[in-house]
Amino acid sequence: MGGGLYLHLPFCPYLCPYCDFAKWRMNAGAATRYLAALRAEMRSAPPFTATTLYLGGGTPNTYAPHEIATLVEEARAIFALRDDAEATIEMNPDRGLLAGFEQYRAAGLNRVSIGVQSFIASELRVLGRRHVPGDAGAAVRCARDAGFANVSLDLMFGVPHQTPQTWRTSLETALGLGAQHISTYGLTIEDGTPYARWQAHDPRAFADSDAQAELYAIAIDVLTSAGFEHYEISNFARPGFRCRHNANYWRNGDYLGVGVGATSYLSGERRTTTRDRAAYEAAALKGGPIPAESEHLDGARQVGEAAMLALRTAEGVDFASFAERYNIAFEVMFSSVLSDLSLAGLVRMTPTHVALTQRGRFLANDVCGAFLMTG
Ligand code: SF4
Repeated sequence: MGGGLYLHLPFCPYLCPYCDFAKWRMNAGAATRYLAALRAEMRSAPPFTATTLYLGGGTPNTYAPHEIATLVEEARAIFALRDDAEATIEMNPDRGLLAGFEQYRAAGLNRVSIGVQSFIASELRVLGRRHVPGDAGAAVRCARDAGFANVSLDLMFGVPHQTPQTWRTSLETALGLGAQHISTYGLTIEDGTPYARWQAHDPRAFADSDAQAELYAIAIDVLTSAGFEHYEISNFARPGFRCRHNANYWRNGDYLGVGVGATSYLSGERRTTTRDRAAYEAAALKGGPIPAESEHLDGARQVGEAAMLALRTAEGVDFASFAERYNIAFEVMFSSVLSDLSLAGLVRMTPTHVALTQRGRFLANDVCGAFLMTG
């Protein structure tokens, strides 16, 4: 069994008011215990060959560089990760966290994904981020100086008080820094977050869907005009720099997630471990089993989920590969939903593929959900 390997490092230097990931404020003692649990879980994981590695969070670079290096070396040995495999670390560009790029490279990490969000100081403050625009530029330079040739920047649109002009400035600044990959995420309001409470009493502070659509269109225009491929709904890359780890998710490939709240998908079973950190650590340190929720996806459900994922990509659903993998004629099984979506201008059909149009990409959750319901 093999595929992508994800390691979840859930500590952050501070907590952003819009975020609902499994994360906690950094605490050295808690972080040490958690790292021991994570390594214990890796050692008791099922046999798995990792084709890519992704350290996500949380904020992985809240850990000391030597801790990250040791973790990566251990993961590499346990999961037989090849030296030339894509290996990414997510980073917060806060200047207090920008040490250790050389150690990351020496440990075999070869891609950094920096959570910039905006290059406008007032927008960073609204987002509760503590870095300033110049920190992201410094992070990119540190990465380059250490030999990272693959740098990805995350940017966010729909930030309260953002304008088309400030959004364009953020995009152009990211291009000016020479990033190979840029991810653009529309702000979503998650239940139970401080932003949800803010939106409840001041909804007009937030971009409505027309404003978000305008910002999304600007991103597509600016980035594709600069030579980036818009290869997935939220992701743009220079040729040759698409994220391989995420491409495996969109192909509905197997992956192993290790850590609190991490999801795995192995042989049709999707399994998400508890978000109760104490319960996670206790179980992992004992050698398992770790409390988790799981479900087996088969038949129409599996095909529907695979379609949802494939439609996120520029190539969309390849009928021949679905026929080979799932033994179905996709275009026949979903003929009625395909013709409705095509008439609505949300998908584009060819004899061999179906893919989302730009309007379909903006409404992707609704469009893709149609395949799940029909399946
Ligand atoms: S957005 Fe990132 S840095 Fe902020 S709390 Fe969430 S995981 Fe931590």
